[in-house]
Amino acid sequence: MERGPSPQLSPRKNGEREKKQRRKRQIVLPRPRSHATGLVTNPTASDTPMNVPSTAPLPAPANGRDALSVLHSVFGLPGFRGAQGEIIRHVTDGGNCLVLMPTGGGKSLCYQLPSLLREGCGIVVSPLIALMRDQVAGLLEAGVNAAALNSSLTPQEASDIERRLIAGDLDLLYVAPERLVTPRCLLMLAQAKVALFAIDEAHCVSQWGHDFRPEYVGLSIIAERFPEVPRIALTATADELTRKEIVERLKLGGSPQFVSSFDRPNIRYEIVDKRNAVSQLKEFIRERHAGDAGVVYCLSRNRVEEVAAALDDAGIAALPYHAGLDSSVRSRNQDRFLNEDGIVIVATIAFGMGIDKPDVRFVAHLDLPKSIEAYYQETGRAGRDGKPSAAWMAYGLSDIVQQRRMIDESSGSDDFKRVSIGKLDALVGLAETAQCRRRRLLAYFGEIVHGETCGNCDNCLTPPKMRDGKVLAQKLLSCVYRTGQRFGAMHLIDVLIGRLTEKVTQFGHDKLSVFGIGRELNEKQWRTVLRQLVAMGHLQSDSEAYGALKLTEAARGVLRGETEVWLREEVPGTRVRSSRAKSRRGDLAPAASAPQGDVDPELRARLRSWRSDVARERGVPAYVVLHDATIDGIVRAWPTTLDELRNVPGIGDKKLEHYGDELLQIVRTR
Ligand code: ADP
Ligand code: ZN
Repeated sequence: MERGPSPQLSPRKNGEREKKQRRKRQIVLPRPRSHATGLVTNPTASDTPMNVPSTAPLPAPANGRDALSVLHSVFGLPGFRGAQGEIIRHVTDGGNCLVLMPTGGGKSLCYQLPSLLREGCGIVVSPLIALMRDQVAGLLEAGVNAAALNSSLTPQEASDIERRLIAGDLDLLYVAPERLVTPRCLLMLAQAKVALFAIDEAHCVSQWGHDFRPEYVGLSIIAERFPEVPRIALTATADELTRKEIVERLKLGGSPQFVSSFDRPNIRYEIVDKRNAVSQLKEFIRERHAGDAGVVYCLSRNRVEEVAAALDDAGIAALPYHAGLDSSVRSRNQDRFLNEDGIVIVATIAFGMGIDKPDVRFVAHLDLPKSIEAYYQETGRAGRDGKPSAAWMAYGLSDIVQQRRMIDESSGSDDFKRVSIGKLDALVGLAETAQCRRRRLLAYFGEIVHGETCGNCDNCLTPPKMRDGKVLAQKLLSCVYRTGQRFGAMHLIDVLIGRLTEKVTQFGHDKLSVFGIGRELNEKQWRTVLRQLVAMGHLQSDSEAYGALKLTEAARGVLRGETEVWLREEVPGTRVRSSRAKSRRGDLAPAASAPQGDVDPELRARLRSWRSDVARERGVPAYVVLHDATIDGIVRAWPTTLDELRNVPGIGDKKLEHYGDELLQIVRTR
């Protein structure tokens, strides 16, 4: 049975190629740009707040129909999302721009479609081989002539691709940044017709960012060598500073910035008080995500191994991933995560960028990331398919102390350390807030959320109780002061609750006026008070003194009774119960984990099993064959003819041609 083109063979027939060139030439006409679907920000007014995505239908300009018909025939999609239409039109017209869109927002189409519409080949700079591989596989599935140039190729394969590029035989070419800037590659591009340059994950140019890649800095050469070719830079993460750096380095000054809302409404944010992180995680997965695919982030390699083993012992299919593993093990684990259903990958931040798996149902953090950007980027890997997903983090005082120490001990400049501390403080603020997490998160990216609550974060679902903590704070700060600002949390709490440990007696702290003044709280409760005072900036851990806690300037106001202190009371255990939790606790099969509604589980399971077979046979991830959303669409539509099947979003011409009959057969025999 013939199943789609394989990556090696897609020699384009001449007739087809001419057709494409004709199609391309047709739409290079310039046209007035009087319409705006919303999201262009004025590049000179950099402090403009984010705009809200527009749902207004696209006006029909000269080539609007061409873009739409390619969207329909190649990608099987009925219309544009958010600013896509406007961006695609701008780039197809030859304009440069910066696109800020959240993960799963649909950035790829913003350069893929113009590459098909413009004459020549679209060159996509992409940092990771895995990302290129999956994108290329998906495009080939859709009948697009795509290829990737990276270090995984033999010289023969590489020169074959180069030849095809120069011959005008490619629509899209993915290139690793370090390769693109080589004289050989630049020479090759000069000989080819280039439709556009897309710089994906553009925040990698920022040295302040969490994903800085030195090889991205060299990309400024694109603007110098090919000033007439449009450049589109795309990222899912960019605070003001990073955005400025992208504009500067990629020479996008004066070009529009298309800024979408960064909200990911399908992601539920939850941050819990860290007690025993591993058992909290096990409970979270068992109760709410049994059988789901998820990513668990830890800071160190040892921790990754330990957590993966603990989950595995608990009957949760978990695999480790970190830079210290043998590369064959690493790629095997990654492939299993991508291709099989319901695998949990436990990883350091080495894992994830470029992982396009759409059905990751949760991202859990067992350690605090470095910044809100990193947190947002990592949690953003959940729920690309738009279905309900969770971002869960366990966080405690030791996290703040550890991150602070890492910054202090780093070899960075003072400037770097100052910026890093500011970023850490912002994240701690997010973890401590008693208000809507989403609001706080988006505010960090300059976006204002209307309405008090989002209804989909822990604080909105179960508002924390707040209490006046002035007296508690004064007791704790006095204890720090009286014991000489030389001790860590454990000893301070011993003194407060009047515990006669060896250390307490050794230092004579049982003789102090503060000994036993805090008996109204237990040890756990004092820990949360302490953590909040550190987060509020009244206490600071001193990395040079082994994490001893010291008073800050701000503490004076509290001690004098001039500063208000409101503390949140911790609710024990996991705070939010998922609406799915009850039904999930039974023995439902993993395949039944998506919202059910009018979806027939049996048909859905059959389609998924067919998809696994096809994916295995073709050596591509399951979602490259069909997305979950497309499978659900088929189940809902229950198509009996090819025409009906064609109307399901995600079924383009090629998928219909390759899989149509088989899919109808499965539906019919159900
Ligand atoms: P990003 O690169 O921004 O993270 P992708 O380009 O991978 O996002 O797109 C995310 C998902 O959204 C994909 O499954 C894609 O098929 C889907 N998608 C993108 N644009 C549209 C659209 N206009 N209509 C429907 N689905 C879309
Ligand atoms: Zn909220």
